Amino acid sequence: MHADVVVIGAGQAGLAAAHALRRAGADFAVLDGDAGPGGAWQHRWPSLRLDAAHRIHPLPGLPLPDADPSAPASQVVAGYFADYEQRFDLPVHRPVAVHSVRRTTEGFALDTSAGEWTARGLVNATGTWTRPFWPAYPGRELFGGRQLHAADYPGAEEFRGRHVVVVGGGTSAVQQLIEISAVTGTTWVTRREPVWRTGTFDEDAGRAAVALVDERVRAGLPPGSVVGVTGLVETDAVRAARARGVLDRLPVFDRLTADGVVWDGDPGRFVPADVVLWATGFRPALEHLAPLHLRGAGGGIVMDGTRVVAEPRLHLVGYGPSASTIGANRAGPSAVRQLLRTLTTATAA
Ligand code: FAD
Repeated sequence: MHADVVVIGAGQAGLAAAHALRRAGADFAVLDGDAGPGGAWQHRWPSLRLDAAHRIHPLPGLPLPDADPSAPASQVVAGYFADYEQRFDLPVHRPVAVHSVRRTTEGFALDTSAGEWTARGLVNATGTWTRPFWPAYPGRELFGGRQLHAADYPGAEEFRGRHVVVVGGGTSAVQQLIEISAVTGTTWVTRREPVWRTGTFDEDAGRAAVALVDERVRAGLPPGSVVGVTGLVETDAVRAARARGVLDRLPVFDRLTADGVVWDGDPGRFVPADVVLWATGFRPALEHLAPLHLRGAGGGIVMDGTRVVAEPRLHLVGYGPSASTIGANRAGPSAVRQLLRTLTTATAA
């Protein structure tokens, strides 16, 4: 099968790009690995309510429906994306997982779970959810309790009566820690002292954070964590948890044992644990692009905005500086504008 432009992924970034392609009258298809609409949002843990999400920006051209703020974000956003795909008649093919992408004389060939697709231009919008990051710590294989990643967090109830060590200094870590600490004992460990920001996330702070990540990807470095540059928002729930002593963090332990975690040194320390929850973030899901050999010496892909410098017919949206709902909204149309211009020039040449 062929389309002039293929968008890989139907999350916020892929749908924003698809909307722009539809408006431009382009010949395009969207290939999405998930079984249903919603991108990563359909998989968010059940207790992540709409009002606990940072701020979900509506997709271009359709407001978010008025929904009960206590409704699970997974359900509300999945329903909204489904409506969006229908309303704008977006040609989303699913479940179609793209296994690998290679260059051809005309553009690209995609090896997918539904056979081969070819395209002259590509917009990659595969997010990070399918690549949870598990850091390597000595003894992880020895630990006899349960280990899980924040992506698989089932809600706090399952942990009642068990001591949970939460690893990680991001928003997910803090939200899950607060929930779990309401029903059982917890220990919080982070690599660095968390930086707290009072007040809501304003536009200026957002722009500054985006500029820093943009600088990194222009230099070909891995994008890094957005929270690393924005800090953690100090909500009422955070203040209440601090008053309960839940946020007294420790540096990350040196190793795991069969029944807990250990800080070596003098004095050493041992905390018995039944569960280790790795809220250690995600990495960009770009394995299918490996045959294109895009990664450079800096460990990342050199970018100019959404355009891959070494491959101008490939744009990455929802990557690096655009890895937020508002960033994805801007990146999609911008990538499409540039890509269609590049393809038109190539046709004329
Ligand atoms: P995704 O939503 O992950 O969509 C990627 C799509 O690509 C998926 O449908 C997937 O199936 C598909 N895909 C992946 N690999 C392949 C492949 N090889 N072949 C085919 N399809 C593939 N941002 C905010 O702005 N506000 C928030 O409140 C917020 N909360 C967040 C909460 C959590 C827990 C996390 C982890 C992130 C949050 N973010 C938030 C950031 C958020 O992930 C982005 O804003 C945005 O939703 C990501 O959209 P995306 O389209 O880039 O990726």
